[in-house]
Amino acid sequence: MTFSLADGYDSLEDFLDARAPNQPEFHQAVTEVTDDIKPIIDAHPEFKSANIFERLVEPEQVISFRVAWQNDANEIEVNRGYRVQFNGAIGPFKGGLRFHPSVNTSVLKFLGFEQTFKNALTGLPMGGGKGGSDFDPSGRSDQEIMRFCNAFMQQLYRYIGPDIDVPAGDINVGAREIGYLFGAYRRITNRFQGVLTGKGQSFGGSEMRTEATGYGLVYFLAEMLKHDSDDLDGKSVIISGAGNVATHAAEKAVSLGAKVITLSDSAGFIHDPDGLTQEKIDWVRAHKAKKGTTLEAYVSKFGGDWTAGKGPWGVKADIAAPCATQNELDKDSAKMLIDNGVLAVIEGANMPSTAAAKAVFRSADILFAPGKAANAGGVAVSGLEISQDRMRRLSDADQIDETLEGIMTDIHAACVEEGTRDGHVDYSKGANIAGFRKVADAMLSQGVG
Ligand code: NDP
Repeated sequence: MTFSLADGYDSLEDFLDARAPNQPEFHQAVTEVTDDIKPIIDAHPEFKSANIFERLVEPEQVISFRVAWQNDANEIEVNRGYRVQFNGAIGPFKGGLRFHPSVNTSVLKFLGFEQTFKNALTGLPMGGGKGGSDFDPSGRSDQEIMRFCNAFMQQLYRYIGPDIDVPAGDINVGAREIGYLFGAYRRITNRFQGVLTGKGQSFGGSEMRTEATGYGLVYFLAEMLKHDSDDLDGKSVIISGAGNVATHAAEKAVSLGAKVITLSDSAGFIHDPDGLTQEKIDWVRAHKAKKGTTLEAYVSKFGGDWTAGKGPWGVKADIAAPCATQNELDKDSAKMLIDNGVLAVIEGANMPSTAAAKAVFRSADILFAPGKAANAGGVAVSGLEISQDRMRRLSDADQIDETLEGIMTDIHAACVEEGTRDGHVDYSKGANIAGFRKVADAMLSQGVG
């Protein structure tokens, strides 16, 4: 039988093997969306005749460039830089930059594809993109980070601009790196423009951008529970990660009355049965900001247990929030969560659950929120930063927080509208369909050329 979405291929697997060989993360992201959008395309001959599916899974541009830079020993190192401009139908490309040895075309295409749907869900005019480098910043001096950022922007500046592509941060690209990248762009182009988001507030950054992904995640979670006539008060929560998303999700969950009992990093996880407090979260942030630290030191400071080399998924809790990285939660971990009676799983990271883990969640009677909906708060506030830069006027934190909460509530409502069958909300389906409709309609309206 011919795979009905792409002529000449017998299956989605054949299509992806032919069009994007050796890109497992990208295949995973496309496969996850295709089951949900196929019925919509089949029901709309205009999408089929415009070949929307094949166009949607082919990035508009994949840019790769050499980054040559000088380390502290005066040696020249060479890394590879990338920008994947995935889909610009609804606005300038928008999405983060990641500096990590695991960065390659497959990872960035998966992230750019997801970002296209996520940005559409925010209701703001932003297309999808992602970029970064295989540069490993761990153990590097501040001067080396600055020289790397300068060299990276020396190439990237040609491809970005406020009306073209507006990158932001992602793993290992935080306020410091965005500052260096923005400075490099300004010096190279002689223009002060809103070309990056996540900037410092003294040069056009938005209030609440740092908090937005984690806070937005918890606003989405609160909406899911409310829809089920429940709330966060007294719920136990396990969180993975100890970075931006994880610590801000923990902070907001604690402020709404939940008990957060784990955090993790690449070395292992801490379990604090007494629950995190603001003081403990502040300590984690300060501690992890130091080079080469692990969370193990938490235990001698505050008590609890440290488990090396594992994620926290075996700890019994009402809610699980994977907030570290892709594919960190596998099928066995998913089964442990279900066996332990988890009520909701909410993805703070991008694609943290493997395909098999997602299948376990979707077939169980729990609430499951995919990252592309639940972690959209960060890019939403980035979208607000773009508007503020255009107007050259910044809003205050309360205004932004209120807008963020409203956007997360709207994304939740869109998922419910598109994903409800027989009284059960399939949030993945809802997010995939709602994001797809918006992008596909824009592509159709703009013709081919
Ligand atoms: P950070 O770099 O701030 O934190 C990442 C955390 O994950 C660190 O604690 C890190 O541990 C841990 N980690 C990284 N790799 C692994 C691994 N292989 N196994 C276990 N733990 C790991 O990143 P963010 O918090 O910004 O991003 C986390 C996730 O959220 C990513 O998937 C990102 O794409 C996604 N996201 C982020 C947004 C944002 O606004 N920041 C927006 C939307 C999505 P260690 O300290 O040991 O390296």
